[in-house]
Amino acid sequence: MQWEVVIGLETHAQLTTQSKIFSGASTRFGAEPNTQVSPVDLALPGALPVMNKAAVERAIQFGLAVDALITPVSIFARKNYFYPDLPKGYQISQFETPVVQGGKVSFVFEKDGKAEVRSVQLTRAHLEEDAGKSLHEDYHGMTGIDLNRAGTPLLEIVTEPDMRSAAEAVAYAKALHSLVTWLGICDGNMQEGSFRCDANVSVRPMGQQEYGTRCEIKNLNSFRFLEDAINIEVRRQIELIEDGGRVVQATRLYDPEKRETRQMRSKEDAQDYRYFPDPDLPPLAISPEWIARVKAEMPELPAAMRERFIHAFALSEYDAAVLTQSKAMATYFEAVAGLVGKEQAKQAANWLMGDVASTLNRENTDIAAAPVSAAQLALLLQRIADGTISNKIAKEVFAAMWEAGSASPTLADEVITSKGLKQISDSGALEAIIDGVLAANAKSVEEFRAGKEKAFNALIGQAMKASAGKANPAQLTELLKKKLAG
Ligand code: ADP
Ligand code: MG
Repeated sequence: MQWEVVIGLETHAQLTTQSKIFSGASTRFGAEPNTQVSPVDLALPGALPVMNKAAVERAIQFGLAVDALITPVSIFARKNYFYPDLPKGYQISQFETPVVQGGKVSFVFEKDGKAEVRSVQLTRAHLEEDAGKSLHEDYHGMTGIDLNRAGTPLLEIVTEPDMRSAAEAVAYAKALHSLVTWLGICDGNMQEGSFRCDANVSVRPMGQQEYGTRCEIKNLNSFRFLEDAINIEVRRQIELIEDGGRVVQATRLYDPEKRETRQMRSKEDAQDYRYFPDPDLPPLAISPEWIARVKAEMPELPAAMRERFIHAFALSEYDAAVLTQSKAMATYFEAVAGLVGKEQAKQAANWLMGDVASTLNRENTDIAAAPVSAAQLALLLQRIADGTISNKIAKEVFAAMWEAGSASPTLADEVITSKGLKQISDSGALEAIIDGVLAANAKSVEEFRAGKEKAFNALIGQAMKASAGKANPAQLTELLKKKLAG
């Protein structure tokens, strides 16, 4: 039987505010336990929450960036449950009326060697407070409670069940991550828990309309874990069904060491959160004027930049989408393209998506930390354009520039000179090379004269080799044609 995988993600993005969502305590990460806790976070009697305007503005920015509805009047609700790290006995969240409704996130998705632009529909995004932390390890054999995180602002972003594979879910999560860090509303630090995903996973027979029963895997804080956990859960569900069992709706935990998911609680023992509107907080009213003010202060969005690149630099939709996956890459591309001009912008894009991307990948680093600057790369591309080096040799020069890690603005020229990589464009020198090749490859010459076109390419290849790759390809072709005709 062919199975179709269905995935919906819920992502918690910690918002980059100085203070907490309903109190003035600091949100700084890594402080001594319980040093950033106000009476509100402690739930002292009589302490009242006050909405942090900066958190709301970050939610508005997000809503604008994903083309969603910003709810004019949204409501905060109490989600009631008991846990030691939740002093109030409830979490303030939004339930029926979230601040952001709908919207979509677009990204480039590569499947079977083909790349396409996809989008995932969002259901909603709502504001809520984080809970504290229970310290189970290393605490004098007891469990300690650290309330520094209690009241930290979160935006929970929920998708429709739109994704059909772990790889697609990861592509979406990466796009969402790059969007919130682009906006600066979340620092994106996954190790510190600033960006974490819950994955809802189900399977159904291919072609079936109805969704299968889902399980939710909680708190995946790396893209690798997200992908692995989904794949493992999918396999578990398929095996279970094929063995005659059925999936029970449940919350599960992923264990990266054992590489399995384990049930935490089933739907039957799911809690009743007894949601109700929080009487301590007035409805959150967001006027069109407020939205306009926030919009005016936002950075250019990836979607807008994508459009601009398509028009200003004549890029394809795909190229523009790849280059705007991160702000650092987009900025770098724009700097290179600005220096080399519109005619060479496509070439700049190819370099960034080719040699630069693969080097970054191999070295597991980010374009912002690349040792070759935009200006240095631009000079390299200019040296291809003016015929100093071939595109092929440029790859070698680029690798050497990367190795050199020098800030010299003329680094490309220095490498070309010191390695003797300048293209041979002197026709006398090229003719000498060709003569040598023709003399040594009489058989190919004969074959060419007998009408075998392929023999010509073989001769060009030999001549290129003889010049150590430095012969100007266009000139070489021209001269060889002439020689063979003569
Ligand atoms: P809950 O209220 O339990 O959180 P929701 O209906 O809000 O449930 O859905 C939570 C997430 O689960 C959403 O991202 C949604 O797209 C996803 N989801 C819902 N049904 C399925 C399903 N059958 N398979 C996979 N994901 C699903
Ligand atoms: Mg949920």
